[in-house]
Amino acid sequence: MMEAKHGRSEEPPACGLCGSPAVYLDRAGHRHLCADHLVQDIGERVRRAIREYRLIRPGDRLMVALSGGKDSTALLHLLSGIVPGPGGVTLEAVTIDEGIAGYREATMSVAREMAASLGVRHRTVSFEEVAGSTLDAMVAAGAGRPCSLCGVHRRRALLGAAEEAGATAVATGHNLDDEAQTVVMNAFRGDLPRFTRPPVRDAAEGGIRRIKPLFRIPEKEVALYGMLTGIFRELPECPYAGTAMRSEVRRIVDRAELLCPGAMERIVRGQEEVAAVWRAGGGTGPLAGGEKRDQEREL
Ligand code: SF4
Repeated sequence: MMEAKHGRSEEPPACGLCGSPAVYLDRAGHRHLCADHLVQDIGERVRRAIREYRLIRPGDRLMVALSGGKDSTALLHLLSGIVPGPGGVTLEAVTIDEGIAGYREATMSVAREMAASLGVRHRTVSFEEVAGSTLDAMVAAGAGRPCSLCGVHRRRALLGAAEEAGATAVATGHNLDDEAQTVVMNAFRGDLPRFTRPPVRDAAEGGIRRIKPLFRIPEKEVALYGMLTGIFRELPECPYAGTAMRSEVRRIVDRAELLCPGAMERIVRGQEEVAAVWRAGGGTGPLAGGEKRDQEREL
């Protein structure tokens, strides 16, 4: 135990569950947790979301969209502890190589290592294979905004890989921050069809569902999960990241969370309630073309 110069104790706060030194304060839940209990708690919350929303169903063939970044590696790590589970559910992973110089090479290598270490079958698909060009070349040719192009072609590549593998669901690493940002972006755009979309949907396309098992876990907890389980790797940031509207919205949502702990959770739950009321009323909305809008970060 350390003593401060003024004599006050500087002993770290204790875990609310076991009394060990805490590594994390959940400001929204007012809980201190030690490393073991934080990792365990995250796993339990992911399992609860999977049960509550029936994200994984008996006989599923899951395809994890494994970018190699912290979210998707944490997702694969968590799912590999759940699958194979009851009902013959299987798990494999795919990494999409968009062709972004100086960025994708490092994350591809982390993705390969991660899948190999967990014994998960892994494949890669490149934009060159599915679109005939790298993202860098498309951007240089003025084909559109980087994240919009990336979203459209990545979605196509992922669904193509999933269909080829006979997958029944594609799992992505979207976390609570991503989901809260999406709700706010859709509100800013006045995109009613997307704003009123249910959090879990049975996709019409090829019958392949899209699931987000981390959608209740804040980004900082996902990062901590990676660090505490030893799977976290420092990686370069995508050079196009700052160009997306999402990065502006992220600043706004982060500020809201700082000023009002639990804001992200309430944004996402509030949207779920609005979407449920909207669907119960049979709403279709005046913005029926919204589904065709910018699909960045969709998958
Ligand atoms: Fe693609 Fe944009 Fe994400 Fe980069 S930041 S990987 S371009 S969506």
